[in-house]
Amino acid sequence: MIDDWLARGIIQAHHIEGFEPVSRADFKRVHNPQMVDDVLDLKRRNGFRNQDPEVAASLPFTSGSLLAAAHWALAHQEAVCSPTSGFHHAGFDEPDGYCTFNGLMVTAVKLLDLGLVRRVAILDCDLHYGNGTDDIIVRLGLQSSIGHHTMGQHFEGEQGVGHPAARFMSWLNTAIQQCARADLVIYQAGADPHINDPLGGLLTTREMLKRDLAVFRAFRCHPLVWNLAGGYQRDVAGSIEPVLQLHRNTALACTKVAAPS
Ligand SMILES: [Zn+2]
Repeated sequence: MIDDWLARGIIQAHHIEGFEPVSRADFKRVHNPQMVDDVLDLKRRNGFRNQDPEVAASLPFTSGSLLAAAHWALAHQEAVCSPTSGFHHAGFDEPDGYCTFNGLMVTAVKLLDLGLVRRVAILDCDLHYGNGTDDIIVRLGLQSSIGHHTMGQHFEGEQGVGHPAARFMSWLNTAIQQCARADLVIYQAGADPHINDPLGGLLTTREMLKRDLAVFRAFRCHPLVWNLAGGYQRDVAGSIEPVLQLHRNTALACTKVAAPS
């Protein structure tokens, strides 16, 4: 996806920032410490239900990317992308659904612990319920400092029912208002709500662009970090181009809103 954005001039190479991986201690702050050790030491299955060492090796970097991007958003008071996925189904004790460790919670809790924020909002627009995020918030008693808005809680399984796009925009506008008091917004710009996604089926390309523009406009000049989350479409040749197109639209919406008019 980054190659796609570079090739199309959506970003330039100098826009890409380096970052450090997070530590085991950072994962253990929001997960069962034994589970963290067992996954990283390849003694139990990760969120992909395998013990692939490459998945384990990637985990400190996906959460590290989101955390670094959040630091950047706070320093610059604007929107920034962490090109990462695989967080919101990971609960305190268990990896699940392609998610091993919950980088959303690693990031939010680290920034709270450092005293850099007093309140974080997680605006999760992946189609599926962020059950792992809710689980950790409850286990750690963080309801007053982390606001969690997950569309999957309201729209998963609602495909083809009534006018889902209108109901979604109404939900989104309310969620955006409730995020207004947060010092940082973490926005999961999932591609799987798309009407053609095999695990989605809710919003058209145009409606998803409206979603992204609504979020970026609401939090213009405010610390906002966004990432990718789910997206499972393939074209007839088996390419991920339909997913790339949706992420490209989100990136273009972000740069369009950020650009001075
Ligand atoms: Zn999903």
